[in-house]
Amino acid sequence: MTAVIRTDPLGFIANELADLRARHLYRSLRVMSSAQGPDVEVDGRACVSFSSNDYLGLTHHPRLRAAALAAVEAFGVGSGAVRTIAGTMALHEELEATLARFKGTEAVLSFPSGFSANTGVIPTIAGEADLIVSDSLNHASIIDGMRLSKAPRVVYPHADVGALRELLVRARTDGRSDGAGAHRLILIVTDGVFSMDGDIAPLPGIVAAAEEFGAAVMVDDAHASGVLGRAGRGSVDHFGLHGRVAIQVGTLSKAVGVLGGYVAGSRDLRDLLIQRSRPFLFSTSAPPAVAAACLEAIHVLEEEPALHERLWANTRRFKAELGRLGFDTGASETPITPVMMGDSTTAGRFSDRLFDEGIFAQPIVFPTVALDKARIRTIVTAAHTDAHLDRALGAFDRIGHELGLIAG
Ligand SMILES: *Cc1c(COP(=O)(O)O)cnc(C)c1O
Repeated sequence: MTAVIRTDPLGFIANELADLRARHLYRSLRVMSSAQGPDVEVDGRACVSFSSNDYLGLTHHPRLRAAALAAVEAFGVGSGAVRTIAGTMALHEELEATLARFKGTEAVLSFPSGFSANTGVIPTIAGEADLIVSDSLNHASIIDGMRLSKAPRVVYPHADVGALRELLVRARTDGRSDGAGAHRLILIVTDGVFSMDGDIAPLPGIVAAAEEFGAAVMVDDAHASGVLGRAGRGSVDHFGLHGRVAIQVGTLSKAVGVLGGYVAGSRDLRDLLIQRSRPFLFSTSAPPAVAAACLEAIHVLEEEPALHERLWANTRRFKAELGRLGFDTGASETPITPVMMGDSTTAGRFSDRLFDEGIFAQPIVFPTVALDKARIRTIVTAAHTDAHLDRALGAFDRIGHELGLIAG
């Protein structure tokens, strides 16, 4: 008989968790028992939320609710299959046609999420013969999309068009004495709005460089969908670059208020994604209520411009007043306003104190941002009233003094 030595093969998990706690990098989930909105109940406490991506308050908009309920009544709760087998409903096609018209592109294909749109499109169009050129602060789903692709990749320093151009000069002559270009495709990928800093990608410079070097541009407009451009058409519309950005990724999970992602571009791009994109081919399509609510959201964007105006008025006021209080709010140009804290311990303590005062604003720490760039990330929405903003500004002022982040 040999002795059986019992060890827990997953014992390392507890060690990893202990390590995260020791470094103040452990995240616990705050649980919301109310609907999403500016007034929420989180962990049993009523508070004003600055943590959602619900930019226009569409998560609970009456028109979206009604559209979702009607779709449940008519079509049930699930789509029952992947798109390529039996899961393509008329609602999916109508949503995509509406989005294509809204975005001003030939075609749109929807995905289960923005995350899967990125991991679906990048490996489908870029392979070994190609090169991906990526901003250093691009979203995790772009990074994972690149990892799933066989294409080599190079990273340029955040928003640095000069450095991007140098990479393109090198890429053009890479391995080729005649300088005719070694790559079938050079794909430049950038977030439209950077999710942790709220700055806008220098898209006009990126597009000009791409055109000069024969590269294609892909922009991930997750935080720009519903926020930038006319009626929230995104960063391409914001900069007037229609027809010059080959691939636009968008999300239906943030300002659109529901769930899903999409790729907007040419009819051929859509067609190739249907043939080859794995998250599209192997994941069930959106439930009818989700597609119907997203469709209604696009109509709301076009028909209720007051929501968009309120979002931007709140954004301007909140940023200006945080700056006046003496906080460093970084380079944000959008409703995402980071309030810089430095280390993760201060960020955690600040967020806990805000929560004590009924303000729900999450700390963002490593590895989402660099170790010394911990911050409280705030997002104002169209649903915040002046009274909501006043309450938050009062709390930021008090706690900022208490923790020595602001003087005076
Ligand atoms: C949130 C986000 C995504 C993912 O979108 P989901 O629809 O939530 O999966 C992709 N890219 C960026 C830049 C994002 O901020």
